[in-house]
Amino acid sequence: MFPITHQQASSRLDMFLPLAGGAYAKKRNYDYGAHNHDNVSRLSAALRRRTILEQDVIKSVLGAHSYKGAEKYIQEVFWRTYWKGWLEMRPSLWADYCNQVKHGFKQTEQLSLAMTGQTGIEAFDSWHKELTETNYLHNHARMWFASIWIHTFGLPWQAGAALFMSHLLDGDPASNTLGWRWVAGLQTRGKAYGARADNIDQFTNGRFAPYGQLNEDVAAIPGPENPPAMSIREPRSANGNSALLLLTPEDCHPESLPLVQKPVAVAHMPSGLVKDRAQAVMDADNEAMKDALARASSYFNITSYGDISSQNWQKDIHNIMAECGADHIIMPFQPVGFWHDILSDTDLPISEILRPYDNLCWPHAKKGFFPFKEKIPHFISSL
Ligand SMILES: Cc1cc2nc3c(=O)[nH]c(=O)nc-3n(C[C@H](O)[C@H](O)[C@H](O)COP(=O)(O)OP(=O)(O)OC[C@H]3O[C@@H](n4cnc5c(N)ncnc54)[C@H](O)[C@@H]3O)c2cc1C
Repeated sequence: MFPITHQQASSRLDMFLPLAGGAYAKKRNYDYGAHNHDNVSRLSAALRRRTILEQDVIKSVLGAHSYKGAEKYIQEVFWRTYWKGWLEMRPSLWADYCNQVKHGFKQTEQLSLAMTGQTGIEAFDSWHKELTETNYLHNHARMWFASIWIHTFGLPWQAGAALFMSHLLDGDPASNTLGWRWVAGLQTRGKAYGARADNIDQFTNGRFAPYGQLNEDVAAIPGPENPPAMSIREPRSANGNSALLLLTPEDCHPESLPLVQKPVAVAHMPSGLVKDRAQAVMDADNEAMKDALARASSYFNITSYGDISSQNWQKDIHNIMAECGADHIIMPFQPVGFWHDILSDTDLPISEILRPYDNLCWPHAKKGFFPFKEKIPHFISSL
């Protein structure tokens, strides 16, 4: 259902291409329920790990449709890029979210009912079941679920965001955190998203009709102003003659990295270092990294090392470097998120490579999506 490897994602994209134009624009907002999401591309778990690249998806879509014809789909892919850039320039919001989750939440009956999907609101409980059983929710269902969580139940958005992060196959620090903040009314100041029963009724094709059960008169929750945009941080840099290529689930497309030297070997980080996630999400990380490892090994014709342990990962990396004769590490730029946090606590000699796509697009995410969207034709022609 939800492709992870490069091959799976490419096949799914091929199947979806005829629908990426008018059909997507017309049908994309409909949530037909678990196992019925053919009206959307279902590429998010692969895009999140970059086993398939945003720019390659856009290129294929433009091979099958005109820009105008597929504008809606292309814009959605750029939402992902926009959120990544926006958070990259405000890393403190990610740190605040992580601190809140670490310190825990006041345990109330309402929180416990929502966490276990037993609230009595059939639509909400059904989305909870879909989330925990299939590790995916349609975009509209995510919006409704988050809105009911925050504005009907009055629960902290961070607890809901953490529930999504544990279960979503595409769980992403930028799209998820900022998606929840947007529904809460923190992202676009003062503008909260309210789930309405008639909207749910219409876009679930009548599967759910929670009339009288929702707070439809929503107000933005209080919170501080968004921090001003900082510059995007400089990639880490380390000098040396021979490099170990190190992969994380942030970027599993090593063959397209603009490298100045060929690595001598490739290894990947252990997925277990990121805690509190469903087994299916950890499995997806492992599958993506194994796939990338195999592709890198064959593309560069180098040895691959796949067994770094969660307990002794730094020692294991030093051992691998000694064994393959590497004096430094090269890796794709690690954006704001778990993997950047884990790796920034180390003194490993790391050089990061920022992709031209990110370098081009991210700095334009300083303000709202509208001015960013205006730049999309420029991004496409520059790439
Ligand atoms: C509260 C909330 C939390 C979310 N959490 C995540 C998350 O953790 N990870 C994630 O990838 N997306 C997240 N989204 C965005 C969106 O719901 C998913 O990307 C989308 O549902 C994935 O399904 P698809 O691949 O079929 O999307 P399609 O409709 O086929 O869109 C194509 C691609 O565009 C990107 N995209 C589409 N819509 C959005 C959007 N609103 N924001 C950012 N990117 C988008 C995705 O990469 C997606 O794969 C969240 C949205 C909300 C409202």
